[in-house]
Amino acid sequence: MPRVDAESYERLIPIEGTPVDMLNPPAGCPFAPRCESCMQICLQKDPERFTVKDDHVAACWLLKKEEYENAQDDGQGGIENER
Ligand code: SF4
Repeated sequence: MPRVDAESYERLIPIEGTPVDMLNPPAGCPFAPRCESCMQICLQKDPERFTVKDDHVAACWLLKKEEYENAQDDGQGGIENER
């Protein structure tokens, strides 16, 4: 996964596996079938854009992992849509 704090000359490491068919995308995050950090919500909902810093947004449920896990523990079943 690309890192914001990485030097610009670092090579990106490809994710193993075959990309999903973007003409017939599955539900959830398009990286889910190949992501080693995939959670249940990743298979159900496309990640929203979360603000990381003033000029940086990212779309990954890991940024809301703690909130997601707390919602699971409370029986709420997931993260509310913030859009
Ligand atoms: S939302 Fe993030 S953690 Fe979930 S599958 Fe996509 S890249 Fe992986």
